[in-house]
Amino acid sequence: MKVFHGRAGAASERRGNGDTFTGVVWADPVMPSTDGVTINTVCFEPGGRTYWHSHERGQILQVTAGQGWICVEGGKPEVIRQGDVVWIGPNERHWHGGSADSFMVHIATSLGKSTWQEAVSEHDYPPSALR
Ligand code: MN
Repeated sequence: MKVFHGRAGAASERRGNGDTFTGVVWADPVMPSTDGVTINTVCFEPGGRTYWHSHERGQILQVTAGQGWICVEGGKPEVIRQGDVVWIGPNERHWHGGSADSFMVHIATSLGKSTWQEAVSEHDYPPSALR
């Protein structure tokens, strides 16, 4: 057992042109990586999104505010909103982020190693979630 007293660490800003996110994304640690489990509160600005990636043993997303997108390879992007919970299976290639017209905040529980790939192109990113 470990008890993490207080905040797990400082929030970090991941501004685009890195190798994991497009746009402005803030990650606020809930629990530092422990036994292969990492938990972050992540805030995406409108248009902010992850690169394509996968998680070795899967990931749970709990949307706590706003509206955004989840997309798995071979599928169409799906709108997710406050209250939605998403299970992404082991090694399932996917991306997630805010919609073009809304921020999104989710708590991301990642299991095992994350593998980062290429950016989601403007062509593949939906223009709006308000339909
Ligand atoms: Mn993910």
